[in-house]
Amino acid sequence: MPDRFSFALHATDGKARTGVISTPRGQIRTPAFMPVGTAATVKAMMPESVAATGADILLGNTYHLMLRPGAERIDRLGGLHRFMNWSGPILTDSGGFQVMSLAELRKLTEEGVTFRSHVDGSRHSLTPERSMEIQKLLGSDIVMCFDECPALPADEAVVARSMRLSMRWAERSKAAFGDRPGHALFGIQQGGVTPELRAESAEKLKEIGFDGYAIGGLAVGEGQEAMFGVLDVAPDMLPEDRPRYLMGVGKPDDIVGAVKRGVDMMDCVLPTRSGRTGQAWTRRGPVAIKNARHADDPRPLDEECACPACRSYSRAYLHHVFRSGEIISSMLLTWHNLQYYQDLMAGMRAAIAAGEFATFEAEFHALRAEGDIERL
Ligand SMILES: [Zn+2]
Repeated sequence: MPDRFSFALHATDGKARTGVISTPRGQIRTPAFMPVGTAATVKAMMPESVAATGADILLGNTYHLMLRPGAERIDRLGGLHRFMNWSGPILTDSGGFQVMSLAELRKLTEEGVTFRSHVDGSRHSLTPERSMEIQKLLGSDIVMCFDECPALPADEAVVARSMRLSMRWAERSKAAFGDRPGHALFGIQQGGVTPELRAESAEKLKEIGFDGYAIGGLAVGEGQEAMFGVLDVAPDMLPEDRPRYLMGVGKPDDIVGAVKRGVDMMDCVLPTRSGRTGQAWTRRGPVAIKNARHADDPRPLDEECACPACRSYSRAYLHHVFRSGEIISSMLLTWHNLQYYQDLMAGMRAAIAAGEFATFEAEFHALRAEGDIERL
């Protein structure tokens, strides 16, 4: 195992890239999809099951973990990896985005954010310095800068003011992070859907200097077309030799479009959340397992999928356990969805390495356009 964080680009195809991020806790094959383990668990999954799908890295949420069970407590118990029994790399967000979306009575100043917990109403504050401290207590391998992100659409002046605040916080985050060999700090580009603001943000981040760069402030209500519009220009503004992480994205077609535009890492709650609400993602698009058409169907959800839900159970069974509110429904559908996402990433990595990304993308869209298999 290397004692340092590094990124090696192995192949490119158009703007799409494939490579490997090396960390002391293991390698991350890119493009990578990171399952979300919000409260120190990928909901409905054992950690070894998440690893079996092909996931190299998990994401943990600073905001949730600082409120419950608390960063100092996790540190006393040996850190987040040991606490949740995941030995691979973990990326933690900074808490900034979730404070804005979940906390009550937030107050934003130059210093940071004060707020009341959505769990028990207790008062807390998050600053760039405290966010760095919490992520260190958790033992995160990839630490994110503390930033602020306005919901879109927003007035350009609001977006600009917020981006410049985030850049000042990025500078404070870097200073507070210090020198921690083997751990990485990523800067977060902001600027909404305005290319000039995105460019200003990228320049500032490069001046500060980070181990990787995230494209933040997307998937917040702007729609796929606007998001792709930003991704047509934003990745090129970031250093070629560092990983690029698109935060909070997304649906399978968002992911394929992002990789095509030069993104290396993504995360989203969609596959896990959908798994608990009866929505499966397949090569032929989304399938609502609750629909009556599946009640007598002995076929697997997805013939090509090697996950336990597809290998050992019928659509009829998955329909039955979902309709009955059985816990195994969430377990099987979550496993399937995570497997599908990881298969999608593996397919893209192979296609980029072979110089066949365009063919892969065409087949991806063609199969989805056909829709789900004919009903029996
Ligand atoms: Zn499956």
